[in-house]
Amino acid sequence: MSFDLSVILELGELDRKLIRLRKRRDAAPDMAAPQRARVDKAKRELSQLGEQDKEAAKGVKRLELDAKAKEADIAKAQVALNQAKNNDEYQALTRTIETRQEELNTLETQILEAYEAQESREELSKKAKERIASQEKELAEALERVKETQAKHSAEIEGLEAQRAELLAKMTDDHRDLYERLLARLGDSAVAEVRDEICQGCLLKIRPEQVSLVRGGTTMVTCSDCGRILWGKFG
Ligand SMILES: [Zn+2]
Repeated sequence: MSFDLSVILELGELDRKLIRLRKRRDAAPDMAAPQRARVDKAKRELSQLGEQDKEAAKGVKRLELDAKAKEADIAKAQVALNQAKNNDEYQALTRTIETRQEELNTLETQILEAYEAQESREELSKKAKERIASQEKELAEALERVKETQAKHSAEIEGLEAQRAELLAKMTDDHRDLYERLLARLGDSAVAEVRDEICQGCLLKIRPEQVSLVRGGTTMVTCSDCGRILWGKFG
């Protein structure tokens, strides 16, 4: 087995396809990224509502305790009022009751407002849960598309890998090793076209004697800079 450029070129073409397909297969999960982001956002909003609810419940408890204390104060003042010994004491107690009653009214308004806020949060939570349910359905569908795309690419990759093995079997051990090493090192392609005496892999000039060798097509020529196996169309 000697140097067969056509095998190497075919292999180079095949590897470019493989690299592209593997990238697409690996990037397929990105297809579901917007749906996942939407679900995550809605879940964060729901959990924030839950946190707000917990905080608000603590606040309501405090307000209710305060209101109870005011009611007790008022009841105590009422008892004292009934037993007032003179007008001054009576007046003072009446003022206390009025003040406590105003404070109690304020607290009751605050409690009412807190309950209303809780109700609107419940409404928002309900909507958020509905949104999450429909968005999770969309996410599941997107993930299904990801799976299908990956399966399609994987099947294609498997087919190309089988062809690749056949091509590699046609090469000498030395050439095969060199090709594989180059591909692993360069990542994109182990072969490069020479056009106008320029290596299209690294865009550097090729020495004339090397160009002649490439033109001859009977020996393997590699770029002295990037190391790629060179080939060319010479008219
Ligand atoms: Zn080069």
